[in-house]
Amino acid sequence: MLRTDLNHSHISGNKLYKLKYNLEEAQKQNQKTILTFGGAFSNHIAAAAAAGRENGFKTIGIIRGELVPELNPTLKFAQSQGMQLHFISREEYKNKHEPSFIDSLHEKFGDFFMIPEGGANKAGIEGCKEITQSITIPFDYVCCPCGTGTTLAGIILSLKEAQEAIGLQVLKGENYIHSEVTSWLRHFNSEQRNWSVNTGYHFGGYAKCTAELREFISAFEASNVIPLDPVYTAKMMYGIYDLISKGFFKAGQTIVAVHTGGLQGNAGFYET
Ligand SMILES: *Cc1c(COP(=O)(O)O)cnc(C)c1O
Repeated sequence: MLRTDLNHSHISGNKLYKLKYNLEEAQKQNQKTILTFGGAFSNHIAAAAAAGRENGFKTIGIIRGELVPELNPTLKFAQSQGMQLHFISREEYKNKHEPSFIDSLHEKFGDFFMIPEGGANKAGIEGCKEITQSITIPFDYVCCPCGTGTTLAGIILSLKEAQEAIGLQVLKGENYIHSEVTSWLRHFNSEQRNWSVNTGYHFGGYAKCTAELREFISAFEASNVIPLDPVYTAKMMYGIYDLISKGFFKAGQTIVAVHTGGLQGNAGFYET
């Protein structure tokens, strides 16, 4: 397991990589404010708030859902890092990429450098290309959980031909990660085929957890002393173990699981 969750105390796992070149670009453009989007439990919102503070930016978080009487631990943390929280309805949130909506944000907040939800852009992928640099052993497979596919795309672009990436989609439904990643790879002029997406381990959908997954987390944490989050990393590890037991991998092959972090969300997840 590659413990990217240990890379930084507040900017968890893959989010540090996704923010790196976004912040660099904001600095180049001489922007003082970062504006980004996310749900109320978003690891990206927490990470962007901390990274903004660390790098001297003002941060604004556009949060999906109406303001609740008491902020959850993720939003409390973001606020403690100086992030200004702005709540919008789920309906409005769907239009977040519309130019007219973005214009209205500029009217409200002035100049800002915008980072999409989850850090899912080209600069985010550029950063994620660096994840595998920390793997110090030869390996055959590298696995990561997928929300937007940004991390997977970056990892794929960093692979040698004989190595393969597997993304485990944590959302239920069609294999949208496959099409997202395919179009990103095209964007980077890559025709790589040494990757796949597995949609079999969503456990009911995004941020859904079952008794079986909870038991898996307890057993995994007890035997490995490595914490998992129920939204992403636990589903990936369950999937990898299951694929191993089904003979998907060949004996002797080395599989690297990327611990993408997300542990900040545990406090809020188990509270509700
Ligand atoms: C955001 C996040 C992901 C999803 O990464 P994508 O690049 O959006 O696919 C995976 N794991 C954790 C812990 C995350 O916080």
